Amino acid sequence: MPWMPDPTAPPTPVHGTAWWFWLTLSVVPDVLLVAGLIGVWRHLARARRSLAERQVGELETARRLKIIAENASDVVMETDNDGIIRWVTPLILQRIGLRPEDVVGTPYARLVHPDDRETVRSMEQEVQSGTAAESDLRLRLADGSYRWFSLSLRPVFDAAHAVVGRVSGWRDVHDAVQARNAAAAVRRRLDAQMTSMITPLMLGEPVRDDAGRVVDFAVADANPPACAFFKLDRERLVGRHLLELLPQMATTGLIARFADTADTGRLTEIDDFPLPMPDGSIRTLDMRAARADAWISFVVRDNTEKVAALEKIKASEERFRLLAENSLDVVVRIDTNDRLVWVSPSITGALGWTPAECIGRRGIDFLATEQTREQYRRDKARVFAGGGAVSRAQVRSKTGEVHWMETHSSPFRMPDGHIDGVVASMRIIDPQVRAEQALERRARIDDLTRLLNRTELMDRLGGLVERGDGDVAVLWCDIDRFKTVNDAHGHAAGDAVLRALGDRIRACLSKPEDLGARIGGDELLVVLCGARDLGAAAAIAETLRRSAAEPIPFDGDTIETTLSIGVTLAVAGEGVDALLARADDAMYQAKEQGRNRVVALPAEAGSPSG
Ligand code: GH3
Ligand code: MG
Repeated sequence: MPWMPDPTAPPTPVHGTAWWFWLTLSVVPDVLLVAGLIGVWRHLARARRSLAERQVGELETARRLKIIAENASDVVMETDNDGIIRWVTPLILQRIGLRPEDVVGTPYARLVHPDDRETVRSMEQEVQSGTAAESDLRLRLADGSYRWFSLSLRPVFDAAHAVVGRVSGWRDVHDAVQARNAAAAVRRRLDAQMTSMITPLMLGEPVRDDAGRVVDFAVADANPPACAFFKLDRERLVGRHLLELLPQMATTGLIARFADTADTGRLTEIDDFPLPMPDGSIRTLDMRAARADAWISFVVRDNTEKVAALEKIKASEERFRLLAENSLDVVVRIDTNDRLVWVSPSITGALGWTPAECIGRRGIDFLATEQTREQYRRDKARVFAGGGAVSRAQVRSKTGEVHWMETHSSPFRMPDGHIDGVVASMRIIDPQVRAEQALERRARIDDLTRLLNRTELMDRLGGLVERGDGDVAVLWCDIDRFKTVNDAHGHAAGDAVLRALGDRIRACLSKPEDLGARIGGDELLVVLCGARDLGAAAAIAETLRRSAAEPIPFDGDTIETTLSIGVTLAVAGEGVDALLARADDAMYQAKEQGRNRVVALPAEAGSPSG
């Protein structure tokens, strides 16, 4: 039977009406009987009245319940034990878009989202065992969409307390469920963010003293890096107090800063804070504290290693700067565009420029010769390829003097290894270069006469003969009886004679290419370029012979000496040895003919072969 009577049905006939007819028809003239009958009538009337009243009461209750059900904001539904809808409040039209007559007689599970039917089944099992059940699930609306409803399911009992059906209330909780799902999604996203952060993040709950002041924070949650920071797993970290985890914090004033955030909501930003740790070390931390509802979120970035590395770089940069600034060498850094970006102060002492005058200028502009610039380009290419270079450069000073500088160049590398320019240290080496040049000269020049030595003469004469671009005459001169000069006046006198003859030979060299050399002890050689013919060469030889014969002053006295000179001309295609042999031969003939004379030997006159 329906769980609620229908008050619109006609009232059931009352049995007391028959008694009434019976009483009106049986008139008994006995007063006692009449009194008795009146008593019975009264009793019956009372009974009839109370039955009618009870029935009216029940009807009224049912009507009220129906009104309540129909006016409830929930859809109320009655089903049998098989889930077939027997009755439903008209509100179903408003909530689901179906009229009661559309659904009565059909299983209500059809309205439930397929994914939620299992939930319904387990609720029905509970209800079947006599208890109520409640859950959120989706119902399909008439338009095919789904909405969330909260379903409360209760059993209906008969007089024998057997479950004969179910009454259910359906409340539209769609917006609430949506909001809850959205909140859960936000929560999941926050969880994922918190977990995936590289930096430690912690939620802290302010701990207050009796006066309500924030004196500490209890860890409410912590992400894995925060757990790692404290070397505790999450279970052991949550609930602990900050001051318990970091007792040294008590003296840092940090709690007061965070308390301010808890009280005012102001963000706390602290950078590079040296925080003492329980193990005695000090970690350099960036910290942010922000209020989030009742909690404070702490984000920490540990800069300890970074700061230490920076300190190390700073220290080494400082050392480098001190070295560079106090070095006598000039240290410069040049960028990839060849611009000077750093110059040590020592440049002023070396070249007169101030560093400021140099910065921004091109390195190559300081170089004095094309040869040096060429070398500079080669060095730069080498350094940018990752190598080093050592070279010499002629560098112009501020006053325009040119100095030799030795340059050591190497790549300037950035921390990631790429080459961002050149670092060069340079020093002036003028004295060294002068000494080397002197040494080099000495290797070419005879110390005593300052004429070329034999090696240099052979080199140059070889060049002249090979070129063959003009008549080359060779005058081979040998001092006559030189031994006797040494013997008579001493070795120094002999040296003085050699020096004087050197000067007289130089005096007879008229062209820049002409050469004068000392090729042996008292053997002197003159090479004349552009000699017209053997006669002209012999004439110059004669002039030299006469000049040599002039007395040579020595030690307040004079020494006289003479030369025997052999003259010959180079022949095209002939080697230096053959040429010199013929000149020597001519000189030998001069000796033989009595010395102090010139013998000119033409090439065709037959020189010794070889
Ligand atoms: P000659 O006319 O045949 O050439 O007789 P000479 O005495 O010059 O004999 P020769 O050319 O063979 O001897 C060369 C001498 O030159 C021998 C050596 O004592 C002298 N002599 C060589 N080098 C030097 C030098 O550097 N200084 C001095 N003072 N004498 C030197
Ligand atoms: Mg001699």
